[in-house]
Amino acid sequence: MNLLENIRTTLLMGPGPSCVHPLTYYALGRPTLGHLDPYFITIMDEIKADLQTVMGTKNVATIPISGTGSAGMETSFVNMIEPGDRVLVLINGVFGMRMADVAGRLGAEVDTIEFEWGTAVDPEEVEKKLKEKSYDIVAVVHAETSTGVCNPVEEISKILADTDSLYLVDTVTSLCGMPVEMDKWGIDICYSGSQKCISCPPGIAPVSFSDRAMEKLNNRKTKVPNWYLDVSMIAQYWGGKTRAYHHTAPINMLYALYQSLKLIIEEGLENVYKRHMECHKMLVAGIEELGFKMLVKEGYRLPMLNAVLVPDSIDEAELRKRLLNEYNIEVGAGLGALAGKIVRIGLMGHTARDYNVKRLLDALSAIIK
Ligand code: PLP
Repeated sequence: MNLLENIRTTLLMGPGPSCVHPLTYYALGRPTLGHLDPYFITIMDEIKADLQTVMGTKNVATIPISGTGSAGMETSFVNMIEPGDRVLVLINGVFGMRMADVAGRLGAEVDTIEFEWGTAVDPEEVEKKLKEKSYDIVAVVHAETSTGVCNPVEEISKILADTDSLYLVDTVTSLCGMPVEMDKWGIDICYSGSQKCISCPPGIAPVSFSDRAMEKLNNRKTKVPNWYLDVSMIAQYWGGKTRAYHHTAPINMLYALYQSLKLIIEEGLENVYKRHMECHKMLVAGIEELGFKMLVKEGYRLPMLNAVLVPDSIDEAELRKRLLNEYNIEVGAGLGALAGKIVRIGLMGHTARDYNVKRLLDALSAIIK
């Protein structure tokens, strides 16, 4: 038996991956070209331009890295950090913690400010810390997927404008689901993932480096301590008149990214953000009507990741199991301290449709009755 024959179509409403558009599946099956084929290079150039559009940047060093969102995180830190660099990580969930771990492994002197999970990073605390000490890099997660909190990336950027710190932002969950404006918000290093609001299967991580960040990279005293993710080498494959082989690009995954970005740009970024917000509002209204409460206060909630508190009277694991087994709907479990206490409902990319929200609410209603 070929196991692929029996894969059922699950409505992916967890923290990623999200549902994939049929045109993106079609793109995955287009004929594989060589990684230096001139036709493929024109596709690469369009991907770079489209990534600049969705990331709100003119940065030349805007490229997709082979690997998932964590490869984007590693790429960002490994290219920027030299041993002894001072890094401040703002933490209010799992992915902020992961950033601090990654930076520490590279020999950075890492300081953190921790905020209660489910609440946002407080810019005043950041300002206070920056008055006490200067940092080479300040890092924050825009959309903290573990809690459903939106961090005030733009407000923090105003504080950093008076400093020499480079600003590093994780947009794995936010990109293409809500505005991300690298240039306007003074973000120097930004990374994302393909499987959330871009609605491409997992495996590609868009990254972008400002001129200031590239200057730090080009003036390193030590080599980037990771060959595969060294952006100064990868950039020679992704730019310039003659392209140099670095590693064999995941050709068909890049077709999928190309198609997913085209779908977003054709719909229009503003329309895409509006669709995410409308689905979020519909979900919150429906979920509250069913008697559930949201973990995060209004005003700090992400449209694409909804953390819903599960009352003690309901077995959270059983609820997720029944949604999957009986209704073919996947939602996510809580992580860390929130395990067993919340479910995470994703409304990302192609999943963010009113008919999907209705299907989930109907299923939840039937189960809890
Ligand atoms: N950062 C954030 C905010 C995420 O939500 C995730 C994944 O959920 C990651 C980083 C890591 O991405 P991946 O699991 O694709 O490696």
